[in-house]
Amino acid sequence: MIVIIGAGPAGLSCAVRLKELGKDAAIFEKESRPGGLIRTEKFGAYQFDYGGHLLHFRRPEMEKWVKGLMGKDRLIRIKRKSFVFSSRVLTPYPFQVNTFGLPAEVIRDCLLGFIEVNCLAGPAKTKNFHDWILAHFGEGFARHFLFPFNRKFWRIPLTELDSEWAEWSVPRPAIKDVVEGALGLTREDYGYNAWFHYPRKGGVETLARSLAEQLQKISLNRAIISLNLKNRKILLDNGEEIVYHKLVSTMPLRELINKAKDMPAKLKTAGQGLRHISVLCINLGIKGPPLSPAHWIYFPEDRFMFYRAGFYGNFSDKPSEYQSVVLEFTYLPDQEPLDEQTLIKQAIKDFKKTGLLTDAHEIEYTGAMKIPCAYVIFDRRRKQVLPGMLKYLEDHGVYSIGRYGGWTYSTIEDALKEGMETAEKLAQ
Ligand SMILES: Cc1cc2nc3c(=O)[nH]c(=O)nc-3n(C[C@H](O)[C@H](O)[C@H](O)COP(=O)(O)OP(=O)(O)OC[C@H]3O[C@@H](n4cnc5c(N)ncnc54)[C@H](O)[C@@H]3O)c2cc1C
Repeated sequence: MIVIIGAGPAGLSCAVRLKELGKDAAIFEKESRPGGLIRTEKFGAYQFDYGGHLLHFRRPEMEKWVKGLMGKDRLIRIKRKSFVFSSRVLTPYPFQVNTFGLPAEVIRDCLLGFIEVNCLAGPAKTKNFHDWILAHFGEGFARHFLFPFNRKFWRIPLTELDSEWAEWSVPRPAIKDVVEGALGLTREDYGYNAWFHYPRKGGVETLARSLAEQLQKISLNRAIISLNLKNRKILLDNGEEIVYHKLVSTMPLRELINKAKDMPAKLKTAGQGLRHISVLCINLGIKGPPLSPAHWIYFPEDRFMFYRAGFYGNFSDKPSEYQSVVLEFTYLPDQEPLDEQTLIKQAIKDFKKTGLLTDAHEIEYTGAMKIPCAYVIFDRRRKQVLPGMLKYLEDHGVYSIGRYGGWTYSTIEDALKEGMETAEKLAQ
């Protein structure tokens, strides 16, 4: 039997594809609803994804598949409206091609630094993310945006990160665009998320529901608590033991390693070295005049506790006075932050400092959502451990896939694609 752990995008698409190929699979999910991180919580007039989840299609065949599954009209295509708030100025994202409007000395530092590394210095081979930033963007962009933002976000010294993940997610502009951006000739279509799709109604969970509807059964409220690799057995939290022929796991790889009872101690210890950061989303339901036309705004400065504020109600073409706002901040898992109520109070105080939240607004709802494993840390240990670990598991019939199973930085589309590809591999 094929067993799938987790009914997030990767697990669901794997099960759907297996079904299309005439293969059965049993899928177990620890939560009470399928969807993983693509769930949406509703509180009266307000709704919140886990930090705002947009659909970025980079593969036409995946766009076609998702639209076919959901019905074309249930998705809307939206042009990104995102900004950076720094030096008390709101500039369009990405910062690198939109310095117009910032204090003159900031623009000077950014331009001179960029020209120096891109025109005067030779090509640099860099060893870590800190040096990668300096080598590709120069000292000005580093000091005024990339260092403070990434330090605030990653919570570890940037010299401990490698730059593999940044190659596709941090836009690297041409000099012409940087100069034009300093002169106010703004380019709005930079980066991988300049356009995106989002469900017309119901939040991102609409996609999870469309996937789940394809399947006859998903065992919900069923967590895998341990696994025996040699005998190919999993133990569920209700005491049931299940023997599998192949196992597809989408739970965080670190957790899978912890649960694997008979993995060699050396590998287990190596697995403990995999690091990640957690996210806390502070959700506010605010009634009143429009807070901002933005979809989201980045806050690199430490005087705001959050690194991003999302105004995801603005995805809708029908503006509402009930606005769902998400203020996100990260923490290291071994440094759990203060209690939620204190954090919510602090976040509201900081949000008022932005000038967006005024006395004309009424906060009708406050809440918090934790994402314990949110972003994998790309460091030297990950590079050393990951390939051998995934190979060892595969040799024992376990395919650890998805963003957290594969211990990577990837999108919903990537998770859907990987789930499908794994199904095709297993069906052969
Ligand atoms: C803050 C944030 C914002 C993001 N925004 C975007 C975005 O805008 N666009 C985008 O494309 N991507 C975004 N992502 C990434 C996106 O969430 C992931 O790519 C996607 O959810 C990965 O799907 P998955 O199936 O691999 O994992 P998950 O969605 O995490 O699913 C794994 C499932 O396994 C279940 N599970 C775990 N342990 C067990 C167990 N022991 N037993 C049974 N079940 C278990 C979990 O409950 C979960 O349902 C964002 C991520 C974060 C953290």
